[in-house]
Amino acid sequence: MNPKDKGAPLLPWQWPEERWRAIVGRVRAGRALRPAAWPGGARCAVALSFDSDHETNELREAGESIGRLSQGQYGNRQGIPRILEILQRHAVKASFFVPAVTALLYPDEQRRLAAEGHEIGIHGWIHERNSELPLEAERDLQLRSAEVLEKVAGTRPVGIRTPSWDFSPHTLAITQEMGLLYDSSLMADVDCYELLMDGKETGVVELPVEWIRDDAVYFNMNRFASLRPYTPPEGVFDIFKREFDGAYRERGLFQLTMHPHISGYRSRVWILEELIRYIRSHTGVWFATHAEVVRYVKANAA
Ligand SMILES: [Zn+2]
Repeated sequence: MNPKDKGAPLLPWQWPEERWRAIVGRVRAGRALRPAAWPGGARCAVALSFDSDHETNELREAGESIGRLSQGQYGNRQGIPRILEILQRHAVKASFFVPAVTALLYPDEQRRLAAEGHEIGIHGWIHERNSELPLEAERDLQLRSAEVLEKVAGTRPVGIRTPSWDFSPHTLAITQEMGLLYDSSLMADVDCYELLMDGKETGVVELPVEWIRDDAVYFNMNRFASLRPYTPPEGVFDIFKREFDGAYRERGLFQLTMHPHISGYRSRVWILEELIRYIRSHTGVWFATHAEVVRYVKANAA
């Protein structure tokens, strides 16, 4: 079919300029929120995060694999305790992004996180893919997720990380409507920035992530597909370390994403501890939760 025939949709190379400009402009990085200095004269901020997906990775695919669900349960039984022990030993506070279904399956886990001073943020209902949902369903799930986390952990979440960092054209409007302080799912910078929606300031801060700083990329495995871990733990440590080195050199922000059901293993969890030790061997590093970083940059942007 000739796409120029009447009624046929235009192909991307045929789009008029306003069309691709509108797509690009839906959600955009606005003003950079990079402070001239970090609290206490620190040179660098370090924001560690853990996405407690547990069983929801399987459930959101409508999967019922008992084997894969057991891997999710490992996140609760072994992953979280190992991670919390390391964080406690080094007196580091972190952010945990928790799907509502995880919070309902494991309320004690969330209460322990809160009791130990960690932040709990929104991570969807059942790790759904926002870009596949109608607006009303996405909005309803995001609102209900916040309610569940508040009920279980006792504190209203102030930030969201969309499941799989999947962002629909409506996600930002919902986040803004909910009055959330920040999102942490997008990748336009290494520093925090204000999110623009259709060219307008939203007041919502982005604390950017990157697949490079995500353990899942290197370690994921699927028995029935060709997906296998391809980077040894030493290699992953080296990548994370170099990301920190750059942030320290540039007096910026080092943000990291890990998963209890992926990194909470004997042969991998050392990456977290070695990294904290390495970072602590530098002077002037501020460890903070995502919410603390966002509050600080919002108040102190240069
Ligand atoms: Zn996740």
